[in-house]
Amino acid sequence: MYNVPADFINETKVWETLEQNKNPEPAQLKEVLAKAAEMKGLNLADVAVLTSISDPEMLGELFNTANTVKETIYGKRLVLFVPLYISNLCANECLYCAFRATNKEIDRHALSQEHIARETEVLINQGHKRVLLVAGESYPKKGFDYVLESIRSVYSVKNEHGEIRRVNINVAPLAVDEFKQLKAEGIGTYQIFQETYHRETYQKVHVGGKKRDYNWRVWALHRAMEAGIDDVGIGVLFGLFDYRFEIMAMMQHIFELEDKFGVGPHTISVPRMEPATNSDMASHPPFPVSDIDFRKIVAILRLAVPYTGIIMSTRETAKMRRDTFALGVSQISAGSKTNPGGYEEANEISGQFSLGDHRPLDEVIRDVASMGYIPSFCTACYRMGRTGQDFMDLAKPGDIRLHCAPNGLSSFKEYLQNYASSETREIGDQLIRETIAGMSGIAKQRAEKLVNRVEAGRDDVYC
Ligand code: SAM
Ligand code: SF4
Repeated sequence: MYNVPADFINETKVWETLEQNKNPEPAQLKEVLAKAAEMKGLNLADVAVLTSISDPEMLGELFNTANTVKETIYGKRLVLFVPLYISNLCANECLYCAFRATNKEIDRHALSQEHIARETEVLINQGHKRVLLVAGESYPKKGFDYVLESIRSVYSVKNEHGEIRRVNINVAPLAVDEFKQLKAEGIGTYQIFQETYHRETYQKVHVGGKKRDYNWRVWALHRAMEAGIDDVGIGVLFGLFDYRFEIMAMMQHIFELEDKFGVGPHTISVPRMEPATNSDMASHPPFPVSDIDFRKIVAILRLAVPYTGIIMSTRETAKMRRDTFALGVSQISAGSKTNPGGYEEANEISGQFSLGDHRPLDEVIRDVASMGYIPSFCTACYRMGRTGQDFMDLAKPGDIRLHCAPNGLSSFKEYLQNYASSETREIGDQLIRETIAGMSGIAKQRAEKLVNRVEAGRDDVYC
């Protein structure tokens, strides 16, 4: 399974399609936006047309269409998660990352299993239910088993405040049999970012270690899906190369997964390069992405693959995060630290990159709720086996309203009741009341029933 087809990421086709569509007529732009509004996704030429938009009026139309699609499919829900960095040991040389092997300016740690359990406990006490486990590409003595043990450690912590219900994973590409072991631990999504799909740039910025092998990385999601992991996450590190090329090449990757496995990625991440200790490149990205282009990227992806979640991390500022909720973002991290052990004890020096949003979870929840969004900690689909194609079948607007909306509300109520400050609880409870008042039919009945159960003291209720 290591024979990556030569034309899988077809750079010539990407450039040609961009060239052919670089000056679309207004009528053509409108046609693509009208097609996008049907929520059936877009082809490569359509995406190229949208990347060419720069006129403020057309940008406004792009953003409005993305907002309509986002609200129709996802409503006002925003799923919350938190990264858990277990180790910053790394044998690779990614020029943009503070964890790269030769960087002597950070402290190196691989957390012990006891330490991972303590970090998990801090996150549970804050109210988190979903963790993204992250590591550099070099594991302590036990090798890859260290990752498997770490997942077990996270799931094993249960206290009077609750437990982590879904562990997603962002570790270096694995072989099929290792992916099978990962799946056996009950992981949620496996995610990996190609960083850049442009081969020449890829070689220039990955100067040492196993990560230099472009093909091994680009085929990782195929191996994960072959191993039975239904939910995979894709992404690009924006700032390394021309964002237009990257979106187009990532679409080729997505189409290939859809072709081969009948379902594309569960999520797309859009990390934008941030400063990192002792990295010139991170402070001066070769292809910086402006704020307006960053919003455009989110809007285009929302229209191109309407049913794929878009993740916005705390790399971005609170303002940028707020702006992109309306354009398509469906999952956000909150209260994040990128240094192993950082939840128990602050130590920014070992972090992977600078964060744009340092607010604690409660403050993020309050802000999100004040904007009318429902923070959701729901993990129902994954626990009911609704993953991969089954999730995509469910993820139609009507069904989302019947399942995700009530589940999101009950998980939010659970947060408010068990973890929130009084200020956040007041805003949140009012939002729940208003949201349920605006619902109808079965969805409303389910939401009322689930929220009432939480109010009566039951946790972890979902449909
Ligand atoms: N080490 C594994 C790898 O590289 O795939 C997995 C974890 S790595 C810590 C997670 C992601 O952080 C990378 O895929 C990269 O996109 C991102 N990253 C690295 N340096 C960054 C920076 N300076 N700013 C923003 N994101 C960065
Ligand atoms: Fe290591 Fe990942 Fe950082 Fe590269 S991005 S140096 S592989 S932790």
